[in-house]
Amino acid sequence: MQIEPNTVVTLHYTLKDNDGKIIDQSDDDSFLYLHGAMNIIPGLENALTGKSAGDELSIKVSPEEGYGVKEENRIQEVPKDMFDNSEEIKVGVQFHAQSPDGSAVVVTVTEVKDDVVVVDGNHALAGMELNFDVKVVNVREASAEEIEHGHVHGPQGHQH
Ligand code: ZN
Repeated sequence: MQIEPNTVVTLHYTLKDNDGKIIDQSDDDSFLYLHGAMNIIPGLENALTGKSAGDELSIKVSPEEGYGVKEENRIQEVPKDMFDNSEEIKVGVQFHAQSPDGSAVVVTVTEVKDDVVVVDGNHALAGMELNFDVKVVNVREASAEEIEHGHVHGPQGHQH
């Protein structure tokens, strides 16, 4: 069957940057997602619509269709004394913070200065072109419960 909204898709994928460096890949054939529910980035989801099991494709996804463009206003300097555990704050450390609009964001420490810590609330892959090599392994109809929840259930999907 073809990939369309409310199907569950099993993928094998490799994600590379523009230099050919592997950023991420499926460990085995167990990456499952619910199509049409915004479980994956739009550029990948759109390219997969209409494909079926056995299809292989290479997809170049722009930042706008991927993890977004890098926004300067998400990079902020925070006074070091705001942290209880400032000695544990190192470049690369990630933690949850609250954005100005109140939503939860993951921020990454990008620089530690004498008095301030620079944190970046952009997604680690924001601003990057993403190169996917994808193989469609399986396509099945989603259950009514999966459609209602907006994600995949089952042994290799979302667990309750
Ligand atoms: Zn569920």
